[in-house]
Amino acid sequence: MKAIQVYGYGDPEVMKYEEIQDLHPKGHQILVEIKAIGVNPVETYIRAGMYPFQTQFPFTLGFDAAGVVKEVGTEVTKVKIGDRVYTDGTLTGSYAAETLCDEHQIFPLPQRISFEQGAAIGIPFTTAYYALFYKAQVTADEIVLVHGASGGVGTAVIQLANNAGLNVFATAGSKEGIKLIQTQGAHEVFDHSQKGYEDAILKATGDRGANVIIEMLANINLAKDLKILAKKGRIIVVGCRGEVTINPRDLMRTNGAIHGIVIFNTTREEKEAIHAKLYGGLASGMINPVIGKEFALEKVAEAHRYIMSTKAYGKIILVP
Ligand code: NAP
Repeated sequence: MKAIQVYGYGDPEVMKYEEIQDLHPKGHQILVEIKAIGVNPVETYIRAGMYPFQTQFPFTLGFDAAGVVKEVGTEVTKVKIGDRVYTDGTLTGSYAAETLCDEHQIFPLPQRISFEQGAAIGIPFTTAYYALFYKAQVTADEIVLVHGASGGVGTAVIQLANNAGLNVFATAGSKEGIKLIQTQGAHEVFDHSQKGYEDAILKATGDRGANVIIEMLANINLAKDLKILAKKGRIIVVGCRGEVTINPRDLMRTNGAIHGIVIFNTTREEKEAIHAKLYGGLASGMINPVIGKEFALEKVAEAHRYIMSTKAYGKIILVP
């Protein structure tokens, strides 16, 4: 079968599209025939050698995919051959035509959700859910600011926050991104590429500030966030690509809190509970992952460059 093999840390060309040995499941393992693969920024960090990730070369990158169960191990009870599923983590990597998963990494894909949308659920939606409901413990009367809402995680946060009846403020950095976050249902939208937009956010909160800020680029925004945080507000750092200077007095002013999260730190039980919640929204139409650009799997280097250099519009997908 075809797969992307990474031969060393470096630029996108370290990823090669190759024929590798077929996989077969044992025990609690499941073999998925992949129809679509989700590309996350973290995979570019891993490929570049900028993320703590232990592996041996060559290896196949990727966590998120959707497809059909092709073979099951003797102990598998969760799914059967032919079921539509999505993955949240795999044993052998998702940038491939097929992937081996453990039972706990596989979730049912409702009929109304396409394979492309299924590939956009794993990391983005569990991160969004964990940030809002586990870390921020947001309540229905609060304003949530999604600081960087046009990408995979941000659109997920808008949808989940809307479904919970929250007052959702959101930012994007392009005209298309602004249109997208409006159609996703953000109540107030702002352009984070415009100077002084944070003053407009504060004004729109009636000068009280946002109760919860889900932050996608903390190295740029954390100091600004502290100035537009409500009393007892919580900033959840989801994305960060460098260092930042803040004045802790700005945090003391609000009795506020800054929490950092890495979705890989969540427990299996937390993940299973989150996916169970997501299933209801996916099946009923309350959750609709947004697909942006699609690339053929062999164009993976282009996809990695694209996700790190182009203004976001939903989820980037690879198609095997
Ligand atoms: P993505 O689809 O590439 O989206 C990136 C988002 O960041 C876009 O909305 C983009 O907006 C926004 N952004 C760019 N410049 C910004 C700025 N100056 N201020 C605010 N937002 C800005 O990536 P993603 O999958 O949504 O992930 C978002 C971030 O979270 C990434 O850094 C990723 O590594 C991280 N992440 C962390 C976890 C975790 O476990 N902690 C999990 C998933 C993702 P425009 O393009 O419209 O400017």
